[in-house]
Amino acid sequence: MAKAFASTADLAEKKVTFAKLADGVYAYTAEGDPNSGIIIGEDGVMVIDARATPVMAEDLIRRVREVTDKPFKYVVLTHYHAVRVMGASAFRAPYVISSHGTLDLIRERGRQDFKSEVGRFPRLFDAVGTVPGLTWPNMTFERSMTLFLGKREVWLMHLGRAHTKGDIVVWLPREKILFSGDLVEQGATPYCGDAYLTDWPQTLERAKSLGARKLVPGRGEAMLTPAKSRKAIEATQSFIVAMMREVRKGAKAKKPLRRVYEATHARLQPAYGKWVIFDHCLPFNVTRAYDEALGVRHPRIWTAQRDREMWKALQG
Ligand SMILES: [Zn+2]
Repeated sequence: MAKAFASTADLAEKKVTFAKLADGVYAYTAEGDPNSGIIIGEDGVMVIDARATPVMAEDLIRRVREVTDKPFKYVVLTHYHAVRVMGASAFRAPYVISSHGTLDLIRERGRQDFKSEVGRFPRLFDAVGTVPGLTWPNMTFERSMTLFLGKREVWLMHLGRAHTKGDIVVWLPREKILFSGDLVEQGATPYCGDAYLTDWPQTLERAKSLGARKLVPGRGEAMLTPAKSRKAIEATQSFIVAMMREVRKGAKAKKPLRRVYEATHARLQPAYGKWVIFDHCLPFNVTRAYDEALGVRHPRIWTAQRDREMWKALQG
């Protein structure tokens, strides 16, 4: 039987956890759905990833209002994916920050990505009609930026290409807490449709060298010890390396994409099949990995139409 397209059949609501990691530092997680982070400073609040729609952002705002009445000052976009940025307007924050790389991607493919993501996973875009338009950063940087939320120091860093060309992490150097965005996942399959798979493991090495005591991944629960934080990074690394190895092997043998997809699925299923969105991600992942193995340097733009054609070719 053909599999339902992407996650169109996934309708089960997830339970949200709003966990305190340190004084004024919170993780908003939801059993494998996209996470957000909150950092409260003396003069305002930073939101890390803004939810998929303004209506979905309201739930995060409500939880923040239970712990502080300070205004939202910064919305940080860890990367350009619609599911993390389209709720930004709800916070009415004066500063929306991303890397230059993310701004490039929003300009180049933000509109197509929005349509594509809503089509793939409608549950994650509750009340999608409330999205006022694309989310645009009004402050960007190339490599790194340091912000002071009062006395609290926050580093924003682009550690290299990985999940997209513009990924940034948010690092609290004193508390040693890392918000990784989709650079690291925990118990969830890394999405690689826009990825740089040769670079990703090295970028993760840089993240690992920070020595996080706690880590909030892009999806999955927050890691509350150094050992668990490190393990989450290494598990993501292992997945990327294993997938790319299998795809390179098939591409080198000049096998067609569908055969490479089937072989890669069979190879990864025993170790990673239990990670959420495994069957959703793998066709997109292998398509991008195959391109990269054949020398296509930059990920091709996904459109709602290309999504469906690819799915039919690999799963039909
Ligand atoms: Zn993403």
